[in-house]
Amino acid sequence: MPGDRLQKIVLFPATARGHELAARLSARLPSSEIRPLSRGEVSSFWEKGNGLVFVSACGIAVRIVAPLLRHKQEDPAVVVVDETGRWVISLLSGHLGGANALARKIARLLPAEPVITTASDLYHLPALDLWAEETGAILLPPERIPAFTARYLSRGGLRVFREYPLPLPAVWEEVSEPEKADLIVSYRQRDLSSSQLLAVPRVLYLGLGFNRGTSAEAIEKAVRETLSRNRLLSQALRGVGTLEAKAREEGFLAFCRKTRLSIFPFSPEELSRRVKEAGLSISRAARQAVGAFAVAEPAALLAAGPGARLLVPKEKTPEVTVAVAEARQSPGKLFLVGIGTGDPGEMTPAARRALCEATHVVGYGKYLELVEDLLAEKEIYSTGMTREVDRAERALELALSGHRVALVSGGDPGIYGLAGLVLELLSEKGLSGPVEIEVIPGLSAANACAARLGAPLMHDFAVVSLSDRLTPWETIEARLRAAAEADFVIVLYNPRSRSRPEHLSRARRILLEYRSPETPVGIVKAAGRDGETVLLSTLGSLPEEKVDMQTTVIVGNSRTFFFGPWMITPRGYRGRRF
Ligand code: SAH
Repeated sequence: MPGDRLQKIVLFPATARGHELAARLSARLPSSEIRPLSRGEVSSFWEKGNGLVFVSACGIAVRIVAPLLRHKQEDPAVVVVDETGRWVISLLSGHLGGANALARKIARLLPAEPVITTASDLYHLPALDLWAEETGAILLPPERIPAFTARYLSRGGLRVFREYPLPLPAVWEEVSEPEKADLIVSYRQRDLSSSQLLAVPRVLYLGLGFNRGTSAEAIEKAVRETLSRNRLLSQALRGVGTLEAKAREEGFLAFCRKTRLSIFPFSPEELSRRVKEAGLSISRAARQAVGAFAVAEPAALLAAGPGARLLVPKEKTPEVTVAVAEARQSPGKLFLVGIGTGDPGEMTPAARRALCEATHVVGYGKYLELVEDLLAEKEIYSTGMTREVDRAERALELALSGHRVALVSGGDPGIYGLAGLVLELLSEKGLSGPVEIEVIPGLSAANACAARLGAPLMHDFAVVSLSDRLTPWETIEARLRAAAEADFVIVLYNPRSRSRPEHLSRARRILLEYRSPETPVGIVKAAGRDGETVLLSTLGSLPEEKVDMQTTVIVGNSRTFFFGPWMITPRGYRGRRF
């Protein structure tokens, strides 16, 4: 987590003078804020990816953070600036946490002298842990890393034997025999001397074929045996390709969850095409059972992406067929991110992390403005509101060509957002390259707006969008009737647009056929954004002109009531059952 990718920078001044300095810095540091210096405040930001800047004496910072320390891979960056702004000390998590980079950045702004004490920086050597993080390699065995690093720094160099072409810093020396190396880059099991370290590149992809109902244990056993027969390390595995219809099997899903492998599903046509392209042998059994020329080998190759090489041709147990391919290109990643309302406090840490990790961000202009702070130095692709297909296609294209991409939706990406569209596009087009997809949930308008009203969603509720851009109005009307008849609380998304101002009145007329004009209605506009408003009204006297496309309308059920500013739908705890 280099310092220029920090999610949030929090400045903790100890004195009034320190506060002035913090204010100066905060104005020039994106995603930063000033908080009072207390252990409670510091602990609430204690999370990898954040940068904590104490404007105080080192002793104060050390005493406050001491009880919070966990591990260098988990702790945030901690930097101390003296209150005259002369020294900027990188105190904790210099490399992986990004404190060195943050200290240098702050020093440039003040300007001041950065104080960096991590050895590799003193000797101007590339840090081993940062190299491993950037190339995605895993260093084994982990307990040897500290002594190994100490030797590397005192020798001032590193000899590397590469069995796989991971990029190396220019100052490291490449050797042609493994015995002469300090570091060996390989995904194979190796006998190491006591001073050697292994860097395992995560570039292997499984292709799996299996019978219906095969258990996770059987899959795991077959994979383990194939790996060990071929002396391959499980740490090098990144993903697993299989037939699309098999990717829903319980045993397969459990295996993938346990081993944390990304899933790459392929249609029979895609598999058959790859069989032909690669000149693989055709399996009569696979053809009969699933309609593809073969499964394991083409699935491994497809998952591993362009330029992949089949490392282990298929190996069979009675239930499972395993093949392994080696990738030559690192896979792209597509985060389908929900940013919540736009209020930074209503965005999840996972969403923030995804935006920080992405190099490319795609979204509707207005949503991107809400997270502007996090977008410095990224490639941005923004479009108008109705260009969803463009955005989804663009994001997918970028990810398929190997980039880390975040596609931003307001609220939750899977609720009238872009997650479904992307997955639909994939299901139509197939995976044309290796791309990992991660859906990151967000606070949806229903949650955010309900909270502002009190507790209107305490009983069964239905969500209906009044936009007929993609749904025929008859369908919308039929769903409204059904929800109204069944006495659901009803949350209306897209309630009223400039081009279709009459949708809300039509919906209201329908609801009034089933519910009394006294039914409570909560109207929340621009939750978490500038101009947030909350209105309490009733179905009979709903002020339609106050509702726009940034508004969510919540219509109570027959039991919903107002108490002061609160809209409450009773759940039945008070002795009555609803
Ligand atoms: N994916 C979004 C919904 C997109 S549909 C989510 O999960 O929230 C767009 C509709 O959501 C808007 O017309 C409005 O009805 C509602 N909405 C989105 N953000 C809102 C906000 N901040 N305040 C009130 N309603 C909002």
